[in-house]
Amino acid sequence: MKKKLRDVMDYLEYEELLKIKKDLTMGGLHLLQLVDTKIKEETTRHDVFCCICNSRLEQYSVNNYTLIFGPEDLRKKASFCAIDCMEYFLKNLKDLRQSSMDKRMDSTDSTVGARAGRTQD
Ligand SMILES: [Zn+2]
Repeated sequence: MKKKLRDVMDYLEYEELLKIKKDLTMGGLHLLQLVDTKIKEETTRHDVFCCICNSRLEQYSVNNYTLIFGPEDLRKKASFCAIDCMEYFLKNLKDLRQSSMDKRMDSTDSTVGARAGRTQD
């Protein structure tokens, strides 16, 4: 089950909430450090399910693959149960990029083409 920040708030003790509030009023450096550490942990871990066939990943299987892509502040992660699934994903991504580039070239108004291309990212 996915947990949102709002759900996590329900689990925190009153004293912990006060500490977080104090930290936030002082720039939130402690919270930022906690979130950074957690993001680094999550980045190195495979997802629970394959993003193509949705089968459960055996965490210690040698067939697992995880791709990390995108800019530093907007990192995306995709895990796969086998090379076939990763290939399927990459092919779809390539086709998507290609068709968005074709649209950009076909368009007579370059600003409209660029905008259409960006919405697909
Ligand atoms: Zn799969």
